[in-house]
Amino acid sequence: METAAIVLISLTLFILVIVLVLLTIIIFKVISQNPNLPLNIGKDSRPKDVARSDFHPEILERITKLKEISKKESDLYCPNHPKEPGEVQCAICDKHFCSSCVKPFKSLYFCKIHLPMVMRNEWEEILKIEASPDAPQNGVSLYDAKKVLFDEKNIPTYIETHYKINVDHNHIETYFVLFSMKPDADQVKKHFE
Ligand SMILES: [Zn+2]
Ligand SMILES: [Zn+2]
Repeated sequence: METAAIVLISLTLFILVIVLVLLTIIIFKVISQNPNLPLNIGKDSRPKDVARSDFHPEILERITKLKEISKKESDLYCPNHPKEPGEVQCAICDKHFCSSCVKPFKSLYFCKIHLPMVMRNEWEEILKIEASPDAPQNGVSLYDAKKVLFDEKNIPTYIETHYKINVDHNHIETYFVLFSMKPDADQVKKHFE
């Protein structure tokens, strides 16, 4: 009878030890899988994946701005050769192409689509604006208008830069001259009225 009691107690103790060991293993696993528990700091205190919403609003704003900048950077590459930097601007579409995608004509450069258009059509001088240092916004607004005409009205124009030596005042005058194709001339003139 005594022996049976000892065996029973030993067995109970043995099972208890096994259960305790198992429990310890389970608890350890749960802790090591959860990085937010303070017990884990010694191992790796950096959070593994921070959700978007966990960022401070100002940091989120910066990330958005950075994304916008990198989007603009992609515009700096040649549309035909995404690995080549866009170095030369087409005078009609204003896109930046690599040097092999543009050809010089008159005093400007044109892309492969717009060079034939410039060569095959008759162009008319629409507007001449003096680029004086006192009113630099004149030139800027002419380039803005050119962009609006092309983007919104689908009317191609180009701007030449002309220089004239003013002998009396001993300085060089700079002019921006806007050209459009003859059939578009009236519409372009109306745009500037
Ligand atoms: Zn072009
Ligand atoms: Zn190219």
